Amino acid sequence: PDSTTRHHVSLAETATAHNYSPLPVVLASGQGAWVTDVEGRRYLDCLAGYSALNFGHAHPRLTAAAQEQLARLTLTSRAFHNDRLGPFCRDLADLAGMDLVLPMNTGAEAVETAIKVARKWGADRKGVAPDRADIIVADGNFHGRTTTIVSFSTDPVARDGFGPFTPGFRSVPYGDSAALEAAVDENTVAVLLEPVQGEAGVVIPPPGYLQAVREVCSRKNVLFLADEIQSGLGRTGTTFACDAEGVTPDVYILGKALGGGIVPVSAVVSRHDVLGVIRPGSHGSTFGGNPLAAAVGHAVVELLRSGEYQARAAALGERLRGRLEDLTGRGVVAVRSRGLWAGIDLDPALTTGRQACLRLLDRGVLAKDTHGSTLRLAPPLVIEPGQLDWMCDQLGEVLARA
Ligand code: PLP
Repeated sequence: PDSTTRHHVSLAETATAHNYSPLPVVLASGQGAWVTDVEGRRYLDCLAGYSALNFGHAHPRLTAAAQEQLARLTLTSRAFHNDRLGPFCRDLADLAGMDLVLPMNTGAEAVETAIKVARKWGADRKGVAPDRADIIVADGNFHGRTTTIVSFSTDPVARDGFGPFTPGFRSVPYGDSAALEAAVDENTVAVLLEPVQGEAGVVIPPPGYLQAVREVCSRKNVLFLADEIQSGLGRTGTTFACDAEGVTPDVYILGKALGGGIVPVSAVVSRHDVLGVIRPGSHGSTFGGNPLAAAVGHAVVELLRSGEYQARAAALGERLRGRLEDLTGRGVVAVRSRGLWAGIDLDPALTTGRQACLRLLDRGVLAKDTHGSTLRLAPPLVIEPGQLDWMCDQLGEVLARA
């Protein structure tokens, strides 16, 4: 790497905790699907902030909303009302076909909030005995990094050394609705799932799974909490990944793209009978629902209302799938994709995911590996068809030379 890059990498290595191992590239600016590093080199951003940048870098409607609000009012706390929160929450609830929104900041906070809501709902509405509420989750899940959330992770790296853990969770195989139903008992208050497992490597459940989960939850009086933090807001070609099976969960958990890649904005979105269990004083956040977050979140909801980005992700997703399937047998072992979101299992005899990402970096493509030999691609939904083709060409070249 060049000296400016080396300087920044070394500073970061010295001054930050090593909870990540970033690729050796130092980014300085971004526009649409492209970013530029401190040396002036351009890269196609095919990770898009783990889907927080669904609308690309510096989307004019989102930066305008942020700038206008930045100059007007940024924080009130929820001790007072602000004139941005109500309109944002009304339109987000409307987009989701729900009644109420509980705004938070990060994804993990929204998951924690949904867990608290489900436990309180169980206590108040279902009559589950105090401290007995159980939540069913799926093997391979990723819902965030707090102590309670890592308590039900099945990934040893996420858990080891971080105990003692929070009780009240049971994990069953992902994609197996019979196993899920068998795990439900009188203390079960909720099922918490990603409709497509992102961090696990874009794992898509078998057809009919989400419908079966919905049916079990309804029949057993258990809440279906859909963590759509990574899968939601257009990524999979529909507003929510649950839409693919025509399923409406009881609770949507949203984050990432809700903040337009500008500010952290997350939310729990549900009906009156569920979110109504939260009373003043029982939950909160200093920054949750702040006017800057609400202004940007509202602009995101506006972008999604036309359906344009969802349609784009669906159409370009078909193109991406075709191109990636052409690479199967040529360095690619398996491809899973839904919309503009793909998990690509590389032949481990040829290369590791990390090696492939380093080679892609040399060719101007930013991507991220997961679980050793899986590549994950999630370009901004504003990517152009020609750019998508170019990205696939680069991947083909990397594999051909591996
Ligand atoms: N849930 C899912 C499905 C995610 O993919 C993530 C982040 O990758 C989270 C929750 C956690 O979000 P955050 O990193 O904003 O806490």
